[in-house]
Amino acid sequence: MNIRNRYEVIVCGGGMVGAAAACALVHGGIKVALLDRFNPERHWPPESIDIRVSALTKASQNILDMLGAWPGMAQRGVCAYRDMRVWDACADGELHFDCADTAFSELGHLVENRITVAALWDVLDTLPSATCITPAKVVDMRLNGNGRQLRLEDGRCLEADVIIAADGRDSTLRAMAGIAVTGWDYRQDGLVATVSTEMSHQFTAWQRFLPEGPLAFLPLKNGKCSIVWTLSSATSTNHLALADQDFLQVLEQASGGILGKMLSVGPRAAFPLRFQYANRYIDQGFALCGDAAHAMHPLAGQGVNAGLLDAAAIAELVIQTRREKRPLSSLRFLRRYERWRKGDNLMMMSTMDVLNKTYGISAQPLVGLRSAGMNLVNNSELVKAYFNHYAMGLRDDLPKLAKRQVCW
Ligand SMILES: Cc1cc2nc3c(=O)[nH]c(=O)nc-3n(C[C@H](O)[C@H](O)[C@H](O)COP(=O)(O)OP(=O)(O)OC[C@H]3O[C@@H](n4cnc5c(N)ncnc54)[C@H](O)[C@@H]3O)c2cc1C
Repeated sequence: MNIRNRYEVIVCGGGMVGAAAACALVHGGIKVALLDRFNPERHWPPESIDIRVSALTKASQNILDMLGAWPGMAQRGVCAYRDMRVWDACADGELHFDCADTAFSELGHLVENRITVAALWDVLDTLPSATCITPAKVVDMRLNGNGRQLRLEDGRCLEADVIIAADGRDSTLRAMAGIAVTGWDYRQDGLVATVSTEMSHQFTAWQRFLPEGPLAFLPLKNGKCSIVWTLSSATSTNHLALADQDFLQVLEQASGGILGKMLSVGPRAAFPLRFQYANRYIDQGFALCGDAAHAMHPLAGQGVNAGLLDAAAIAELVIQTRREKRPLSSLRFLRRYERWRKGDNLMMMSTMDVLNKTYGISAQPLVGLRSAGMNLVNNSELVKAYFNHYAMGLRDDLPKLAKRQVCW
C-alpha cells in the first residue's frame, strides 16, 4: 500500500454531514480523506437559489461556526428567522414561537444546502491534512488487518483505521458493511420550490397543517420563500405536472392566504419521504453518519441538524481516542458513538413520525383534541420554552462543537 493512500479516517460522502465530519477531524490533526462521487458546486450565478434549503438550528450554527464555515455561509447568504407560526387548517389550534422568548436574536437560519457544502469544502481547501478526492466511486470495501480498505472504480485502493459513511439515505457503504435498515415509505413526497408572495415573509417560518400533510413557507434572504409541501405521492405527481399559474392557484388556496397572493414559482421537485434507521451505526472500523444512519420526515426540518450532531460526536470521539493514544480501530469508542447518537436520533425521528400521523387524522373528535393540545402548549410558557429549546437543538448531552467548545 502506497503510504500516500493510507489515512487515519476516510469519510465517504461530502454532503453537509460528511464534509462537516471531515472538517472537524482535520481540525483535530487527524489525517483524513474525503470522497464524493461528484465535485460539489462552489460557484453559481448571483441571483440563483438552490431548490434544496434547510432550516439550521443554533446547535448546527455553532458546529459550522467552530469549523470555520459559518463566515463563508453568511457571506454567500443565510436568512435568520425570528418567529415560527404553526397552525391547523382543520381547527383553531396554533403555536407561535418567538425568539424574544429565548436568549437569542433568531430561532435559526434558512440556508441553501449548496451554500453549507461549498463553505465546508472551502475550509477543507485551507487545511493541509485534508485530502479531497472527487469524483470517487467506491466499488468495494473490506476489512484489512485492524482497519478497512476501499477500492475505487478507477482502480485506486485507499486504507484507513476508520471509514465514516456519510453517503446519504441509500448509502452504498452501509450495504457493503452488511448493515440492514428498518423503516417504511410514507407514501408522501416533500414537494419543494421557491416562490414569491404578495406579502412579506416577515422572517417567520410558517407551517400550515393540512389533511395531506404540512405546507411550510420558509423565509429566504432575497424576500422569497422556500416551500416544503408534504403531499401524498399521487397529489405530488399531479401538482408537479401543473402549469405554473395553476400550481400557484392551488398553493395560494392551500396557504389559507397567509402571505397573500402567490406571484411566481421557480422549478419544482419532489422527494419521496421515508422513515428509516440503520439497525447498527457501527461495525469494525466503520461508522454511519447523517442520512446514511437515519432518514426522518422533514416536517420540523431536523434531518441535517441531527446529522451534524453525529458528525461533531464522531469527530470528538476519534480525536479523544487518538489523544489518549488508543487505537482508532478499537470498537470501544465506536460503541460510545452509537450509544450517544442512536437514542437521540430515534427520539427525534419518532417525534416527527407521531406528529405526521397525528396531523393525518381527520376524525372530528380527535381533530378537536389535537387543536386543544396545540393551544395548551401555546399557552404554557414552560412547555413552550421546552419545545423551543429542543427545536433549536439545544438539548442535553450535545457534542462540544455544538456548545461552541473546541474538541481538538
Ligand atoms: C424536502 C426536504 C426538506 C428538508 N428540510 C430540512 C430542513 O429544513 N432541515 C434539516 O435539518 N433537514 C432537512 N431535510 C433533511 C436533509 O436534507 C438531509 O438530512 C441531509 O441532506 C442529509 O445530509 P447527508 O450529508 O447525510 O446526506 P446527503 O445530503 O444525501 O449527501 C450524501 C453525499 O454523499 C455522496 N455520495 C452518495 N453516494 C456515494 C458513493 N457511493 N460514493 C461517494 N459519494 C457518495 C453524495 O454525492 C452526497 O454528496 C430535508 C429533506 C427533504 C427531503
